[in-house]
Amino acid sequence: MDISVVVPLFNEAESLPELESWIDRVMKANGFSYEIIFVNDGSTDSSWEVIKNLAHKNPAVSGICFRRNYGKSPALNTGFARAKGDVVITMDADLQDSPDEIPELYRMIAHEGYDLVSGWKQKRYDPLSKTIPTKLFNATARKVSGIHNLHDFNCGLKAYRLKVVKHIEVYGDMHRYIPYLAKNAGFKRIGEKIVHHQARKYGKTKFGLDRFVNGYLDLATLWFTNKFGVKPMHLFGLLGSLMFILGFIATAIVGILKLYQMHHGLPYTLVTDNPYFYLALVTMILGTQLFLCGFIGELVVRNSPRRNDYEIEEEFNTSNSTNTPQ
Ligand code: UDP
Ligand code: MG
Repeated sequence: MDISVVVPLFNEAESLPELESWIDRVMKANGFSYEIIFVNDGSTDSSWEVIKNLAHKNPAVSGICFRRNYGKSPALNTGFARAKGDVVITMDADLQDSPDEIPELYRMIAHEGYDLVSGWKQKRYDPLSKTIPTKLFNATARKVSGIHNLHDFNCGLKAYRLKVVKHIEVYGDMHRYIPYLAKNAGFKRIGEKIVHHQARKYGKTKFGLDRFVNGYLDLATLWFTNKFGVKPMHLFGLLGSLMFILGFIATAIVGILKLYQMHHGLPYTLVTDNPYFYLALVTMILGTQLFLCGFIGELVVRNSPRRNDYEIEEEFNTSNSTNTPQ
């Protein structure tokens, strides 16, 4: 099969028939064999009935229905697990992404050697309250992830080589950072294509402004887990040691200063009357706590079944390999 289209959806009943027939039209015109996997993320409208009806008339349509609403990332992850096409394309259900982009996205993956191609809604049809923070968000994501050529991390329209979606795990709200997840899994050829964007035709957006707060927190998490996921002591140990040493030196200075003043007959106060003493003490305590955090982190990692989970591209002449050297 050439293409799997994965469509996560939550209350998008009106858009679905139009989306299905549009995708079908594009696929037939280009002679692609395909499947559409609709992942109904606990919709409370008639979306699921609509999907079942579509599957009746088009055998390429398949559906998964969550019992409740989990979010876009869980929906994508579940669709990815079922996908079989050489190229997997994700697309929002609200008709904001155009299926006309599919042939070119397919070509970039199948013939130009990209692992992942992300859409870029260069001209967006969304309210300003969304587009301006998005610019800031993308600039930060570029900097933190080191993927400098992407302008639109969170674009719903993306294409992947099949093995990419089988090797990444999208959970929580991490769909915003799929290119970063792919990069962390070792897929380096990440490209971008300017895509056509349309205003929402039916229904309303499912994400409010909290997306930006959560987006930044998730980015911090990804950065941390990527850098220190299996060696938390390297971060907490360093910070803890620095703080402890700083606190220790400050305490020593407070003490030495008092001894000096006593010795030279200068007026002096009790160490415990000096506010710096308490600041220094708190710094030492916090440093110790951070250091202990590092130890606890290491204990957690030691028991994690994924601590030795590596992405192996190829291997030969080992007991695990099926290939001979080339
Ligand atoms: N979506 C989903 N589960 C949710 C929220 C959204 O599957 O909990 C789907 C939604 O139906 C749509 C896509 O994710 O197909 C993008 O959502 P939306 O169009 O609301 O986002 P926006 O375009 O405003 O960024
Ligand atoms: Mg949308």
